[in-house]
Amino acid sequence: MAAGRYAPSPSGDLHLGNLRTAVLAWLFARRSGRDFYLRVEDIDSERSSPESARRQITDLSSLGLDYDPPVVYQSERGALYEEALARLPVYECYCTRRDIREAASAPHARPGMYPGTCRDLTEEQRALRRHELAEAGRMPALRLRASAREWTVRDVYHGEVTGPVDDVILRRGGNLNQAQAGDWAYNLAVVVDDGEQGVDQVVRGDDLLSSAPAQAYLAHLLGYVEPAYVHVPLVVNALGQRLAKRDGAVTLREMGLGAAWAEIVRSIGCEGVGSAAELLEVFEPKGLPREPWVWR
Ligand code: GLU
Repeated sequence: MAAGRYAPSPSGDLHLGNLRTAVLAWLFARRSGRDFYLRVEDIDSERSSPESARRQITDLSSLGLDYDPPVVYQSERGALYEEALARLPVYECYCTRRDIREAASAPHARPGMYPGTCRDLTEEQRALRRHELAEAGRMPALRLRASAREWTVRDVYHGEVTGPVDDVILRRGGNLNQAQAGDWAYNLAVVVDDGEQGVDQVVRGDDLLSSAPAQAYLAHLLGYVEPAYVHVPLVVNALGQRLAKRDGAVTLREMGLGAAWAEIVRSIGCEGVGSAAELLEVFEPKGLPREPWVWR
């Protein structure tokens, strides 16, 4: 069964930009006869909370978005990630953020990409770095040993997008003293979940377009269908910055359902439409403004 999804991180209430993306994800899925899943991306153990997930789901339901069970929680899916990890070429990475920052300023570093510091170490070098890290109470992270430098995805609004493939982190560094492996990384979890859930349509904010090539490459390596992408413009504040909670009353509970709904439908070219069911009848992908939506 073909499916779409909305996959929020439960680290606070959804704001207008998140809600708008959720409505669009639901519209794209339902108008194409797909299942629509909610997936709680709670792998970041420090920032996620079950209470926040519960509030997000309540807010999405109050907009009239229906979803197909079950709601999936990434924190419960470690076994699947473990299995996928075992099928991928990986290497240990001992770098701190600072190491990466420093190496990234070297002359032939690719901007924003992992500079490859730990990719080709000898076994002796690895033993030494592992030991140094252990002294600091840390365990190494695991990175993908990518053999493609770039990958091409198809996006409804952006057409064919070719972007760089990085040696992305698959599992974060852990804490040795607590004998605890690190959190699963977003890039691995998102690809495994989309693959395992049969998600073949990914609708999300434009800020994630640059991760799509590496994710599609990872899907390819794992033998999953590479999804069709729909990256939609973000909601921004008056300064053109991505909307954030500090921008004022931007959550559904702060704005009130009526005002939030009115703003969402206006922002997607459907001003005045009163309900999700009605929206499904009239929404036209071509009518979605292609510029970021400015919230004032
Ligand atoms: N959990 C991510 C976020 O809230 C979205 C991931 C995705 O849609 O691929 O930003």
